[in-house]
Amino acid sequence: MHDLVCPRCGATNEKTQFMGPFCIDCAPFKLECPKEFSIELCPKCGKMRIARDWIKFDAPIIEKLLRRKCKGNIEKMEYDPYSGKATFFINKDNNLMQVSRDVEFKPIKNLCPNCSRKSSGYFEAIIQLRGRPERIAKYEKLLTTALKEKTFIAKTEQKKEGKDLYVGDSKQVVALFRELGLKVVISRTLHGLRQGKRLYRTTFLLRL
Ligand SMILES: [Zn+2]
Ligand SMILES: [Zn+2]
Repeated sequence: MHDLVCPRCGATNEKTQFMGPFCIDCAPFKLECPKEFSIELCPKCGKMRIARDWIKFDAPIIEKLLRRKCKGNIEKMEYDPYSGKATFFINKDNNLMQVSRDVEFKPIKNLCPNCSRKSSGYFEAIIQLRGRPERIAKYEKLLTTALKEKTFIAKTEQKKEGKDLYVGDSKQVVALFRELGLKVVISRTLHGLRQGKRLYRTTFLLRL
């Protein structure tokens, strides 16, 4: 037995969800959303670009950005970039109905600044760890973990007097040493020019 018959297509509420007098396929509602959604993604580290920043891939942020591009009486939206399925909860005369749309996720592959610097062999800072081997090992681990979050380690070199870490961004090194309250000896050497700017390499000597 069924109570509702759609006046447009004849579907019944046994098989289809109804919204007011119409079935969900015939009910008039407003929903505009793009067919595809693009964002810059770094193919090396997987980070995504949001305005000027490169941040860890984050599906909820992608959902929020897509939501801004959709129009209609949308109460809620869920988007899964992996399947490209967007689910909308539309409010129509206080009835909530669920509508799905395909929004293809089309990442634009672009190297982030860190990865492009890294791949070109670029670095700004050398951290020289000197002292007892077990102290060096401890601090190498600590510094590497912290710096990988903000910049990158281009390479490490074992020397007979200790260890050298080559780091992408010297500002991040300064900030980290300040944060950790470590005393270092800093020296700068002019390394060359890049796009008309003087390039310095900074050496941070840390005695442990
Ligand atoms: Zn219908
Ligand atoms: Zn990257």
